[in-house]
Amino acid sequence: MWVIHTKCREEDNLYIRWTLSNQIQCPILQRARRDPRRIEFFQGTLDSTSEIDEARIFDTTLRDGEQSPRTSFSYEDKREIAAVLDEMGTHVIEAGFPVNSDAEFEAVRDIAESTTTTTCGLARVVEKDVEAAIDSGVDLIHVFVSTSDVQLQDSMHATREEAKATAVEMVERVKEAGVECMFSPMDATRTDEDFLIDVIEGVSEAGTDWINIPDTCGVATPRRFYDLIENVVSHTDAYIDVHTHDDFGLASANAISGFEAGASQAQVSVNGIGERAGNAAYEEVVMSLESLYDVDTGIDTTRITELSRLVEEKSSIAVPGNKPVVGENAFSHESGIHAAGVIENSDTFEPGVMTPEMVGAQRELVLGKHTGQHSVRERLIEAGFVPTDDEVREVTRRVKDYGAEKQRVTMSILTEFAEDVGIDEREEVRA
Ligand code: MN
Repeated sequence: MWVIHTKCREEDNLYIRWTLSNQIQCPILQRARRDPRRIEFFQGTLDSTSEIDEARIFDTTLRDGEQSPRTSFSYEDKREIAAVLDEMGTHVIEAGFPVNSDAEFEAVRDIAESTTTTTCGLARVVEKDVEAAIDSGVDLIHVFVSTSDVQLQDSMHATREEAKATAVEMVERVKEAGVECMFSPMDATRTDEDFLIDVIEGVSEAGTDWINIPDTCGVATPRRFYDLIENVVSHTDAYIDVHTHDDFGLASANAISGFEAGASQAQVSVNGIGERAGNAAYEEVVMSLESLYDVDTGIDTTRITELSRLVEEKSSIAVPGNKPVVGENAFSHESGIHAAGVIENSDTFEPGVMTPEMVGAQRELVLGKHTGQHSVRERLIEAGFVPTDDEVREVTRRVKDYGAEKQRVTMSILTEFAEDVGIDEREEVRA
């Protein structure tokens, strides 16, 4: 079993926190021997986990993520985030846009030098961008040009023919320099499909190693994106990568759909930060692959929570409590039926195939308005009390009333209630 359940409790004075399981620090090397997921949960209704064979993760937190309105990473922030992504085994780190500024160039160059993973630099199909990327020493250069009519007309101010010609020319330049190349037809999902395929065939002939299909404005749907990727795959020998945006909350679903259709890699950002509503989230895509599809990405998922907190702090974009995988509530339970079930077996009201240990998080049983007697009894015993059934009922009533006033029931509040009700303490606690 991947998960070892141990009964271990930890207290937090500010907030009642109940850790049912130890956090497992899992070195990257251990990942090579990963046991299969507990696929028995899929028997019956969802019994297939074979749609995706392998999947690589391209992290763009430091590039598209940094393009989030009101976010800017310092040189040190970038180095720190890149180091964690690298240690976790992320396949590609897009470090930035080297032509942007001297500071950006230095940061990209230093990340390329200091990490063992593939470092990528972005470039428009403009000579000075491509030269700056080459000079920065990145392993992979990501060149892009708009291909949709709306962007060609009102952003690029170029014709389709000009866009295709410069794309081919810049891919050739990158390959001449002996660097791995990724080409992106920007706004691919709003591009005339015949023209898109024409461009893809052109850059494939020019020798691009990768073609990224960006859903730049987040309009793709999983089924339509699947069909598009399947079509692209049939027109090129290059590896396919996908870049999806979350304008309709479909970014991760679309990225997964891309993998199902034959993409080898998806671009993601930690906490899903990025332009507008952001990108597909690193934690969502990686854990979907690992837990739902049983794909071994090779990524050390036990550091996902740490990575999320780091990016939350450096980006100044708060992670919502209900955010999948990394939100404060992702593994928290308050309501009576759920908490009672989880006390007995956490698989009752959690996915089962994804546990807090797998992402370096902790399970919490929160006391509040929806709390039932099971949680209260466990917490009282843990605090050293020996409550009768009536006393548990009385404290539960007070916890619910207190929680209903939107107040957090901390351990000291619970102790106050217990003493007020006159519950006996265990001998060793009194001594
Ligand atoms: Mn983007």
